[in-house]
Amino acid sequence: MQKETYLGVDVSPLNYEEIIADLRGRMAKGEKSTIIAVNPEKMIKAETDADLKQLINESTYQIPDGIGVLLASKLKKGGIRSRVTGVDMMDRLLRFAAEEGKRVFFYGAKEEVVRAAKENIEKKYPTIQIVGYENGYEKDNDKIVRHIQEVNADLVFVAMGSPRQEHWIRENMHHVPATVFQGVGGSFDVYAG
Ligand code: UDP
Repeated sequence: MQKETYLGVDVSPLNYEEIIADLRGRMAKGEKSTIIAVNPEKMIKAETDADLKQLINESTYQIPDGIGVLLASKLKKGGIRSRVTGVDMMDRLLRFAAEEGKRVFFYGAKEEVVRAAKENIEKKYPTIQIVGYENGYEKDNDKIVRHIQEVNADLVFVAMGSPRQEHWIRENMHHVPATVFQGVGGSFDVYAG
């Protein structure tokens, strides 16, 4: 896929449906995919933070979460015309998982928040398989990795704020069987209501 680049940061031009379609193909091949939300704040930070820039650019999909990215694309005659927000992307992926019998794991937020998010999502998508979760204050990383291995998750959503969640994904994605990883910031809090 042809990315657009602003301030040295790549942005994926795909919309929700195109990302799901692309992911479906990658999952079928067992390829690992990561989704990171980009906004002007992160882009400006990445200008002086080489590691953050690398973290963003090595992701599979850098979704344009923020009006500023659209503005940059318009000014530079790019093709990005609609936002792809982190929370809406997560919601599309949950629906996809519910429809296709994919197994979902949550890691992050306070215990009561992640539990409430799970319960509310199970009400919204009754066929979804949320096969496990861990709160974001559980620091025994081996335990978390083992848990994801044991439940054989396909998609892992990590909500610990950025870039901590993206660092976790980079360091752990190859130790678990899951193939789709999204850093979702405060999205569990949104679902918890
Ligand atoms: N969080 C966590 N572990 C930590 C620090 C934060 O699980 O060690 C959670 C926090 O409870 C909240 C989320 O990470 O649910 C942070 O969301 P925030 O809105 O700050 O993230 P952003 O969207 O700004 O990246």
